[in-house]
Amino acid sequence: MPELPEVETIVRGLGPLVRGRRIEGVWWSGQGLHLGRKIDLRGLRALAVGRAIAGVRRRGKYILVDVDPGGQGGEAGAGIIIHLGMTGRLRVQPKAALRLPHTHVVLALAGGDELRFVDARRFGWVTPGRPMAEDAALAALGPDPLTELDAEALATALAAARTPIKAFLLDQRRIAGLGNIYVAEALFRVGAHPTTPARRLARRANELLAAVRAVLESGIARRGTTLRDYVDVDGERGDNAAALSVYGREGEPCVRCGAPIRRRIDSGRATFFCPRCQRR
Ligand SMILES: [Zn+2]
Repeated sequence: MPELPEVETIVRGLGPLVRGRRIEGVWWSGQGLHLGRKIDLRGLRALAVGRAIAGVRRRGKYILVDVDPGGQGGEAGAGIIIHLGMTGRLRVQPKAALRLPHTHVVLALAGGDELRFVDARRFGWVTPGRPMAEDAALAALGPDPLTELDAEALATALAAARTPIKAFLLDQRRIAGLGNIYVAEALFRVGAHPTTPARRLARRANELLAAVRAVLESGIARRGTTLRDYVDVDGERGDNAAALSVYGREGEPCVRCGAPIRRRIDSGRATFFCPRCQRR
């Protein structure tokens, strides 16, 4: 599943391809996406058709396509909200190019290209935001770990938490953008076992935040982690998998101490850690 670095890589690649281009139409496959829900095609068309794309941003794991509010009927802060789910991909391709299987939403752009949302497993989501800031999912997101979260606020939240540190870091209402891969890597960096009560890390909030930022920045610098599905807007895989210390490395020697990396399942999700470097 794409996490913050993968979404950031996509946003950086997509911006220059679509900025300033007018949306001429919106198409939907008719198939339900996230939780089988229907796309609000009418809402997307009302919001976007005839307007230019002002820019592309990221909020947590969401991609926000800003629509230029200029002219009659324009709405400030309006745009298209995209979540990639498990297998969502975005591509900008000429209208004449064959659409990939599992193409579910298409924005026709002035000049003949299409911005295509492709999603084999259909856990992704595309929805109009009028304005985007009032979308329930976006409004519920916590601060961005790279740009908004500070160590003091993190320390306060950790001290009051009643959950294990892994669950704390995965909770999008507390911190937006982290997932299984980068949480595993950040916990390895600070030497914390994933089941350690979050409050026990309150005094190390500075160090934890630095570790979170370091693993995210590493991911962005290597254009994301591709284990199976993730590709950027050019269809290229990310290089960060080779830089991971614990995630996906069950049985391999720890880069720090040589002990075999372990994998356990917590609430249906795999957790990777070094049994020697990350004690409870
Ligand atoms: Zn180790």
